[in-house]
Amino acid sequence: MNLVLMGLPGAGKGTQAEKIVENYGIPHISTGDMFRAAMKEGTELGLKAKSFMDQGALVPDEVTIGIVRERLSKDDCQTGFLLDGFPRTVPQAEALENILTELGKKIDYVLNIDVDQDILMDRLTGRRICKDCGATYHLVFNPPAQEGVCNRCGGELYQRADDNEETVKNRLHVNIEQAKPLLDFYETKGYLRNIDGQQDINKVFVDIESLLGGLNA
Ligand SMILES: [Zn+2]
Repeated sequence: MNLVLMGLPGAGKGTQAEKIVENYGIPHISTGDMFRAAMKEGTELGLKAKSFMDQGALVPDEVTIGIVRERLSKDDCQTGFLLDGFPRTVPQAEALENILTELGKKIDYVLNIDVDQDILMDRLTGRRICKDCGATYHLVFNPPAQEGVCNRCGGELYQRADDNEETVKNRLHVNIEQAKPLLDFYETKGYLRNIDGQQDINKVFVDIESLLGGLNA
């Protein structure tokens, strides 16, 4: 079960990743974790990545791809993996194809958790924080009993600058533009499966399960 997980911020990718990993016992391979592990083990590539990150520079593709190759070669990936956060670009996706061919593997599915942009906006701009006690709320998922007022202490709720509409819209736009060529690439390869991410969290996972069930048949 070799999977790549995609989805815009707010689509619920993290939640579904947890469920997939727990249910199918495959390793969750996120870029951040992979970098941290390689640095901790002190592999040559890990140290190289560290030297770039210490300078606040982007880790070049050849280093990232090398780290992905090392990670996917490990024993725990024998029965599958869930890649999350990699690839981000078409050149990285092409490199991944080469790595998997070398290892005698191939991607089964690229799962794209699909949610309309206006719903993502609601999800991403809905966070409210209490000025007094720091409790967090969400207008959609965890609304306060009384609008603008903290349940716990009666303090005033505010929206962080990061969560404002303009900032979120820009962030989404950048992500959408980045994802588009990658989604096209995987569509052409025949790997892409769009999952309706606008449903209840559990229903989203039911859809994923019914798709993945076909892999073992
Ligand atoms: Zn409060």
